[in-house]
Amino acid sequence: MDERHPDGFLKHPREAIGKRDPAERRGDYREIYAPSWEEAHLRRQGERCMDCGVPTCHGGCPIGNLIPEWNDLVYRGQWREALERLHATNNFPEFTGYTCPAPCEPACTLAYNADAVAIKSLERAIVDKGWEMDWIRPEPPRHRTGKQVAVVGSGPAGLACAQQLNRAGHTVTVYERDESLGGLMTLGIPDFKFDKRQVTRRLDQLRREGIVFQTKVEVGVTVSLAELRERADAVCLAIGAQAHRDVSVPGRELAGIHFGMTYLTDENRRQAGGGPVSIDAGGKRVVVLGGGDTGADCVATAHRQGAVDVAQISVRDQPPATRPEDNPWPWQPSIFEQTYALEEGGQALYALDVTAFVDEDGDGRVDALMAERVKWTLDTQGRRIDKTVLEHDVRVAADLVLIAIGFGGAQAQALAQQGITLTDSGRVAADESMMTSLEGVFTTGDSRRGPSLVVWAIGEGRDAAHHIDGYLMGESRLPPSLATQSPPTDD
Ligand SMILES: Cc1cc2nc3c(=O)[nH]c(=O)nc-3n(C[C@H](O)[C@H](O)[C@H](O)COP(=O)(O)OP(=O)(O)OC[C@H]3O[C@@H](n4cnc5c(N)ncnc54)[C@H](O)[C@@H]3O)c2cc1C
Ligand code: SF4
Repeated sequence: MDERHPDGFLKHPREAIGKRDPAERRGDYREIYAPSWEEAHLRRQGERCMDCGVPTCHGGCPIGNLIPEWNDLVYRGQWREALERLHATNNFPEFTGYTCPAPCEPACTLAYNADAVAIKSLERAIVDKGWEMDWIRPEPPRHRTGKQVAVVGSGPAGLACAQQLNRAGHTVTVYERDESLGGLMTLGIPDFKFDKRQVTRRLDQLRREGIVFQTKVEVGVTVSLAELRERADAVCLAIGAQAHRDVSVPGRELAGIHFGMTYLTDENRRQAGGGPVSIDAGGKRVVVLGGGDTGADCVATAHRQGAVDVAQISVRDQPPATRPEDNPWPWQPSIFEQTYALEEGGQALYALDVTAFVDEDGDGRVDALMAERVKWTLDTQGRRIDKTVLEHDVRVAADLVLIAIGFGGAQAQALAQQGITLTDSGRVAADESMMTSLEGVFTTGDSRRGPSLVVWAIGEGRDAAHHIDGYLMGESRLPPSLATQSPPTDD
């Protein structure tokens, strides 16, 4: 093996794993990403890491992934060791390697004045290789502690928490209200962004490690929290934050207006063999309200269903093309980036504030929405505090409206009646050790943090496991994740 060149970034341009041609991919439900690259190419990308001494990328990654270490191991062709270092901080690197918006990359030192290392692509390549080589195997604990833990919710937070606790020797049962496991990884994020085979093989690993799953159990309804508390020594609520935000304007009751999540879940169930969809964009003019991830996934799904026209409306102004002065490196750049969905077609409309949905032909269905074109005054945190109306009565034709303007808090009303305190914004309230208002009941992931990202959910799950293990055993050897800068232990 050649000696590593610390100036690899001068020799090799950044080339991240790309996506398939937009015109081709919008016609199918296969993953939008191109296949991975050849080994020699991957090593050159690993060599671009200059091992800068103060790895700002590492700080940009919420779970503190050991990025420079695995960049170097990839460069040296030591894939198995790279996989071990990746798994030291991340239970499910393929969840992030495919879906993470990669806040590590703008924080890479190279991004100060050049192209960042293709960190997310390397993460994906390492874990892809791990599966391909059959290196990812069940790791059941050697000893059982005799303690029982109930994890409620099977999204990335619940699964990470369950795997950590099980590996610490506790006996873990995961309760899920849906018929399928995986939370938003399965029923929210579309197949073409994240193939469900990736969830299935992790679930298989978890089962073989000894974790038990029970589906169609809604804790607080099917079984009370008190009952669960009697069965288990500790409970962890990883129930997500899927309460929809709505638009309260005249005409909201018209047919043809749905929540984006209902629409996406419907299509995900169809892809899993669940029969025809109840909301179909085929042949329709579709308007998606909301400029975030869920909105983008609605746009892309509508194209695949055969919509004739798709518009995505954002209430905010279009972000600038370059970083504003008050948004320097290594902060996350607040700049315009074309989404994968709009690369495939459709138009983005900015700074439109919806005022009404209208039924123009009197058939009870939506035909258009009306909006004001606005200019916002923002506070120092970028929050909208005031608006100036630049134009009234902007009309946008629509046969199907999908509302994807974000989520409120957790769907936890039944649990709130059983002693769980919620915050003003509807999250499950917890102390610094992630314990809720009930002794021995913890919370993690979106239900604690509010709607977030897969990487944060995994880190939350790991942290909750650390706290629960400490609660059960007096101290924990499980590494904490988000709340610490300490490197993980090798235990
Ligand atoms: C459409 C969409 C696209 C997204 N795309 C991305 C992306 O590209 N990249 C990214 O990083 N993030 C993305 N996100 C965000 C990401 O999916 C979430 O942040 C993450 O899934 C949160 O994980 P979680 O485990 O906390 O909750 P969830 O994934 O929401 O899982 C919670 C689980 O708890 C179950 N549950 C709820 N209440 C109960 C109960 N009472 N009893 C039993 N079970 C219960 C739910 O059915 C669900 O399975 C997206 C979100 C959406 C909606
Ligand atoms: S999990 Fe996300 S932020 Fe962390 S290294 Fe991977 S892509 Fe980067």
